[in-house]
Amino acid sequence: MNSEEPKATVNFIQEIINQDKKTNKHQGRVHLRFPPEPNGYLHIGHAKSICLNFGLAAQNNGLCNLRFDDTNPNKEDVEYIDSIINDVRWLGFDWGDRLFYASDYFEKMYDYAVSLIKAGKAYVCDLSPDEIRKYRGSFNETGRESPYRNRSVEENLDLFKRMRAGEFADGSRVLRAKIDMSSPNLNMRDPVLYRILKATHHRTGDKWCIYPMYDYAHPLEDYYEKITHSVCTLEFEDHRPLYNWVLNVLNLPDPPQQIEFARLNLTNTVMSKRKLRRLVEEGYVAGWDDPRMPTIAGLRRRGYTPESIRNFCDRIGVSKSNSLVDVRFLEHCIREDLNLKAPRVMGVLYPLKLVIDNYPGDMVEEMESENNPEDPTAGTRKIPFSRIIYIEREDFHEDPPKKYFRLAPGREVRLKNAYIIKCEGFVRDERTGEVKEVHCSYDPESKSGKAGAKRKVKGTLHWVSADHALKAEARLYDHLLLDQNEGAEEQEEEKDFINQLNPNSLKVLTDCLVEPSLAGAAPGSRYQFMRKGYFCVDPDSASDKLVFNRIVSLRDSWAKILKEN
Ligand code: ATP
Ligand code: MG
Repeated sequence: MNSEEPKATVNFIQEIINQDKKTNKHQGRVHLRFPPEPNGYLHIGHAKSICLNFGLAAQNNGLCNLRFDDTNPNKEDVEYIDSIINDVRWLGFDWGDRLFYASDYFEKMYDYAVSLIKAGKAYVCDLSPDEIRKYRGSFNETGRESPYRNRSVEENLDLFKRMRAGEFADGSRVLRAKIDMSSPNLNMRDPVLYRILKATHHRTGDKWCIYPMYDYAHPLEDYYEKITHSVCTLEFEDHRPLYNWVLNVLNLPDPPQQIEFARLNLTNTVMSKRKLRRLVEEGYVAGWDDPRMPTIAGLRRRGYTPESIRNFCDRIGVSKSNSLVDVRFLEHCIREDLNLKAPRVMGVLYPLKLVIDNYPGDMVEEMESENNPEDPTAGTRKIPFSRIIYIEREDFHEDPPKKYFRLAPGREVRLKNAYIIKCEGFVRDERTGEVKEVHCSYDPESKSGKAGAKRKVKGTLHWVSADHALKAEARLYDHLLLDQNEGAEEQEEEKDFINQLNPNSLKVLTDCLVEPSLAGAAPGSRYQFMRKGYFCVDPDSASDKLVFNRIVSLRDSWAKILKEN
């Protein structure tokens, strides 16, 4: 197989599509959709759904629509619409001219509801929401029929029309399907199709005061758009009979087929929009695009590439049973991608001053450095070297433990792309007792790239020249949730996840120093800070102070897990 070919991953949905193509169902057409409700920002779980739907369409020469399922004006907003459009595009997918809104179908949906009433399949019910719940019964208890169930078609038509006209208060009446109050499936016990909601819709304004419920609206949206395979998450499995009922009872030709798959859950991560909204609204994070958030906007700001997210979604696969994916696998995917792409630079997070006493004070050398050893086309750059440099505080130890191969009194290390230096002494801060300055000598014959470079020492340190380095802020992140299994509890209601927030999920280092080649680095550019991780320039960055987000450290705990198993 040619490795350039798109991967034709055969998951169980692809198998269904293959079968349908064989029988010429839908005349061989494959048409999917990604249908977000614009009530929050997209998260990595949505990315899985986006990759799946657009991916299946591409793999089958089919189409995939972007559709806003905007049937609940109370929770929705154009801010979310804009962010969703931006995020799907950023992930690399294209819906052509097929951007749709459920609200554009409100009139047609209303007409179909009228048809249902005329067919004796729907009725206006005056029970309160509470009473409807009580009448519905439970798993063990069959439901009771509403006293309004047998209203005449004429009365129902009249009442429904007046519901639309705004004559009744919110919650006073609903339109219900007339199905079966003793069905073992609670979704089939005369579900509500329309409710009264006097709310201004972000697209239709005040035109409507009745809004269709998801279970009624969704199959119709799919039908109008000639969707063939309507892919959704597992919690809708029990709704499928209702999905089919709507299409059936209206006698709609070539109906779409609903197919459920297991949603993505990630360790140490909350994913439902409701919980994410809470984090934003209650100020636990700085916003929807806080780099700790599992939102696409957050991952983007953190520095994730679209390729790494698509690759992650591909590799976790699609299944029928719920599971929990290790968030370290997502981190592994971005490391893998950036290892090939990110230029290597030197940045010191916790600077410690180092003076090379035998290096001339007025001398500056330009040290040739490889931009990316993984990429032969990446070229080289020059980094200034001088008498006073900064190294990482943890790279010096006055009393080194065993197996410490970095700098210590009397020891030698190599400065990356420069010379071998030897520690001759250090100075302590009188007040704090902290080491504030290290003194070294250098071996002029040991310059990297020269014959002297052959001399080997165990440790190699990164550094920046004091006179040339740029000030920078580094924001280091850890998982937002302490509990590994948090993601698994997703379906379970209110175990208070706020208690599980990691108090150390963000650490801001304001006094970092980076090499001068980073001057003017544009927000969104990504680098490997040698030995320290992958970093991305944050939009907060300014010319007098660069701001970097650490995407991930270099330690790949996932690769380690793979090795151990
Ligand atoms: P949430 O539960 O996070 O609020 P949702 O399902 O309410 O998400 P929608 O906007 O309705 O959000 O979702 C759009 C599409 O994305 C749906 O088809 C839904 O099934 C899918 N989706 C949502 N969350 C996940 C997830 N964690 N994994 C896979 N697909 C998901
Ligand atoms: Mg939803």
